[in-house]
Amino acid sequence: MPQLPSFIQMYRDLVAIPSVSCLDPSWDTSNKPVIDKLATWLECLGFQIDVHELDHQAGKFNLLAHYIPEDAESGGLMLAGHTDTVPWDEGRWTQDPFKLREDNGRLYGLGTADMKGFFAFVIEALRSTDLRQLKKPLYILATADEETTMAGARELDAFGHLKPDFAVIGEPTSMTPVITHKGHMTEAVRITGKSGHSSNPAAGINAIEVMHDVITELRGIQKEFQQRYHDDAFEVPYPTLNFGAIHGGDAANRICACCELHIDMRPLPGMNITELYGLIDQRLAEVKAQYPGAVCLEHMHEPVPGYRCDKDAEIVRLASELTGNAAQPANYCTEAPFVQALGCQTIVMGPGNIAQAHQPDEFIQIDEIAPAQNQLRALIRQVCM
Ligand SMILES: [Zn+2]
Repeated sequence: MPQLPSFIQMYRDLVAIPSVSCLDPSWDTSNKPVIDKLATWLECLGFQIDVHELDHQAGKFNLLAHYIPEDAESGGLMLAGHTDTVPWDEGRWTQDPFKLREDNGRLYGLGTADMKGFFAFVIEALRSTDLRQLKKPLYILATADEETTMAGARELDAFGHLKPDFAVIGEPTSMTPVITHKGHMTEAVRITGKSGHSSNPAAGINAIEVMHDVITELRGIQKEFQQRYHDDAFEVPYPTLNFGAIHGGDAANRICACCELHIDMRPLPGMNITELYGLIDQRLAEVKAQYPGAVCLEHMHEPVPGYRCDKDAEIVRLASELTGNAAQPANYCTEAPFVQALGCQTIVMGPGNIAQAHQPDEFIQIDEIAPAQNQLRALIRQVCM
């Protein structure tokens, strides 16, 4: 059995292995080497390992490490995280993003905060624990492609019946329990009109004019969102619809035949995604009837639903007590709705600060390490021992 490296060596290794996920194939990397590394270390600790190649994303893998005491096969704790990182901004890092560097009381590197480093924390927290002392199951989940499609989190069924009592997703929240966030949808509206000479508007169908009508309807949805919905948990207490990009036409003297709009929608927790699509369809029905076949809505990725954990849930109480931090909402999406769908009380809480995520010279503060380590160790003890 190989020996477990030191905490800092694990951190160094995790940062050194590229595992970028990106919709642009020239950036996209398999996460298999990270999964293999984690499997080796978690095996050292005495875990059983299951690795699953994603059905919908060949070359990407989820890992589930589990220790299940013989006389307690259900419940327990799952510590979860994603193995992928975003691409790095070339030219904006002042150092190699794959080389862990200690400076200024910080550890720099891609994935130090978001969030490959979390696995080093978890493994270190368990280093001196004999798993045979556990009275409840303990699971470590490592997923693929969180940063792009959340494809990994969508395939947790592959691990069979998996229903811990509690799950903690170690995204960088500075060890603050996050208990709710909005969902995320990205939609494209494509208008296909008919080109023609600008001198005769009747000679074609102007896609920009059709888009104008579509935008008017979508502005109506924005208003409806504000009037019909309210959730005090969020600084922006209603669902949002943002006009992010629009492209259309090529010359002033041609009737524009093609126009495309990209919108981003952030539904509140509990909002039904199918009903939301229904609302868009309903709003666009008139424009569609007026220009048959011209308007087409396309999902740019599978939607991520909103997420909320009951603020009185046991895991929230426990996490707040251990860290001294009160539960908070987040303004970013996580895998929490998919993990929660397993039927476990789920929070998002991990070391590092979200402000450093997706930034050049990403880092984690060294003085955060020991307290977070102790809090994670205490959490495991309280739930599983
Ligand atoms: Zn993350």
